[in-house]
This record gives sequence, C-alpha cells and structure tokens, in this order.
Amino acid sequence: MKILVINAGSSSLKYQLFDMKNENVLCSGIVERIGLNGSRLVHKVQGKKYTIESAVKDHKIALKLVLDILTDKEKGVIKSMNEINAVGHRVVHGGETFSGSVLIDEKVMKALEDNIELAPLHNPPNIMGIRAAKELLPDVPHVGTFDTAFHQTLSKKAYLYAIPLRYYTKYKIRRYGFHGTSHFYVSHRTAEILNKPVEEMKIITCHIGNGSSVAAVKYGKSVDTSMGFTPLEGLVMGTRSGDLDPAIVTFLQEKENLSYKEINSILNKESGAFGLSNGLSSDMRDIENAALEDHNDAAKIALDIYDYRIAKYVGAYAAAMNGVDAITFTAGVGENSAYARADVCSYLEFLGLKVDPNKNNIRGKEAIISTDDSKVKVLVVPTNEELVIARDTQKITQNIKNEEEVS
Ligand code: ADP
Repeated sequence: MKILVINAGSSSLKYQLFDMKNENVLCSGIVERIGLNGSRLVHKVQGKKYTIESAVKDHKIALKLVLDILTDKEKGVIKSMNEINAVGHRVVHGGETFSGSVLIDEKVMKALEDNIELAPLHNPPNIMGIRAAKELLPDVPHVGTFDTAFHQTLSKKAYLYAIPLRYYTKYKIRRYGFHGTSHFYVSHRTAEILNKPVEEMKIITCHIGNGSSVAAVKYGKSVDTSMGFTPLEGLVMGTRSGDLDPAIVTFLQEKENLSYKEINSILNKESGAFGLSNGLSSDMRDIENAALEDHNDAAKIALDIYDYRIAKYVGAYAAAMNGVDAITFTAGVGENSAYARADVCSYLEFLGLKVDPNKNNIRGKEAIISTDDSKVKVLVVPTNEELVIARDTQKITQNIKNEEEVS
C-alpha cells in the first residue's frame, strides 16, 4: 500500500510518499512560496535533490506539480497516480471534535471549517490542501490527523483556564495543546527503546524546535501540555513569548496604543529568543553561537531563559504525574543541541537524573543519553509525525475495506 502524506501550510506544501510494506519513504519534498514570486518545488528521492522553478498560484497547482513529479519517468517513483492508495493530511486544529484520526468526508470538512476560528492561521491552508487533494485524487480515501488530538485526554483540571466558565461554554476557550502527533510518536517510541510497556510509564516529552512544547504522558496518554488555547503559551520559542503575565498585554496595549493585531504580532513574531536577543536571531544555532562563542550578553540571557523555562515545565510535569521515568528530547533543537539538553538537565539532578556528556554528544539519532545508574532515563528520539499520519491512514483505510467486505 502506498500512502501520500501531505502537510499544507499557508505558503508551502510538504509531502512524503510511503510504501507501507516496510514503511519506507520513497520520496519527499516541498513546494515553497505558493502564491508568491519565486515559487519552486524541491523534490528528494534516493539521496538526489531536484529543484523545479515554476509559478504556483495555489495549493491545487502545487499538488498537481507534486503528482507530476511523483509519476515522472526520471525523477518519479511510481508509474501512475493509481498507485497511490490513500492520502493522509496533517491538520493543526481539531478542536474538541476530534480525538483521533478520521476519514475525511463532507461532515468532517464542515467541522474543520467550524474550527477555523480557533486556528485562523493554520486551518485554512490545511483545508485548501485537503480540497485540492480530493479534487486531484477523488477515488482514494483521505484521512485527517490532528495536532490537537493526542491531548484530548487532558482532564478538566489541566485544560480549563481560571476565567469565567461562561467563556469556555461560549467560545470553547480551553487548553488544546499542539504537536500532539509528535508527542505521541516520541513517547511511545521512548517506551519501545526502553523495552517497557508505555502503559506503565510516566514520560515527559520535550518537542523543542522553532515552535516548542512539553507534554506529560502518563501511561501512554497525554495528561498535560504547555501549549494552550493557541500555540503561543508555554515555552520561550524562536519568536513566540510563551508564558507571561496577561496584564502585560493590556498594559502594553494601553501604553503603546496597540491594536489586537499589533500586540498579537509582537507576542507571536517579535518575542521569544528573537526578542530577548535584541533581534539577533530566532534560530537557536545563531543564539547558541552568539552566546557561547561571541559572549554576546543578550544572546546568553535568551539562551538561559529558554532552557530554564523548559526545566521548569519538566519539574511541573514530574509533579503533575507524581513521578517521571523518562524525559525525551525531540525536534530541531531537542535532537541537535547537546548544550540545550545538558543545560535543561542540569536543573533536574534532584530527580536522580544524570546525563552522560559522551552519550549526549550526538545529533539527530535515537539514543539514551543518561548514565546507566540515572534514576530517570533521558533520551533523544527524532520525531516522525509523517509516519504516524501514514500509519493512521493505513489503519483507517483498511478498516473501510474490511467493512465493505463484511457488508
Ligand atoms: P519547526 O518548529 O519549524 O518544525 P524545527 O523542529 O525544524 O522547527 O527546529 C528548528 C530549530 O532547530 C531552529 O531554531 C534551529 O536553529 C534549531 N537547530 C537545528 N540544529 C541545531 C543545532 N545543531 N543546535 C541548536 N539548534 C539547532
């Protein structure tokens, strides 16, 4: 069975084609700058990279370009589109409607549209990607996997904010959490690596990338997570502030005469490591270099606050679960930065946790980086959201087939 996984953003469309026989990625790529000048497709197959410059007006044209290259005699990996058995779509916000992946029918499309209000930046391009794919591949099942779904197991005490309850009832203001597919994959993989049933483990997963979140995964289920109503809450991120006193928002609005849009933009696009480093960079490689090599004070403070915040969340989640067996780092920074991992863990020695500097000296691969006698295991697990989407798509597609056979 071959499954195409699609991740449609506002100006990009990422894809991977899986052969589910052995879960191999046959090819992958991205269409960048959709609707802008200089749009192009970057296609990767068997270690080769092809770049095709082409005007791409919208997501449908982007996907057409992808399907053309997938079936191209020289650069492609399949003979015809008929070889694609199903399509899996990443969707950012499933609201309270979706606690797992689903077959996308018209009812689901309507529910996605109803959730636009909750994710105005993310859900519209996801919906455009789904519509384009359904038009171009009308005869195969399309499955949606939601970033919020894994966190739907949070209990009220973890997801309600202490504001008048009527706002939850009226607007569904609550913690949703994001990166769920990643937290699910990484926590379950952690248990596999440690050779223990996930149902018996308390795991804290740290997805530290451009956007970052921590999750408390107790016995295989998410019980708390640092992103909230939107992906702005929680950790210090590349350009996002994470937690702050809500009074700062109204204070700044008043002092600087800022509109809702302006304050929103400051907190989402000008804050975080970028804001703290005085606009030096939102990229943690640059921040680390400036802080550790060039001894730039602002970068050093940005780096310290960034890691300190992660450590505080890990401590809080150890309390939320009344214990922790393993802490796992993933995503761009978590997978690649030995410094960040060591710095975060330096706050957590009270848990009986010890990192082995030699074992920590790795990048982008699965590893246990704690010492053999460390009470809490520390791991690096590269995330693989696309594989989760492909697996869910396969499962749902096979269920439909079985149901058809029975009836
Ligand atoms: P996104 O949230 O966009 O998926 P990623 O998970 O790709 O982000 O993470 C991007 C971040 O990872 C960037 O800040 C980048 O600098 C950081 N990163 C990548 N490699 C390293 C490294 N070796 N050291 C520190 N940070 C790194």
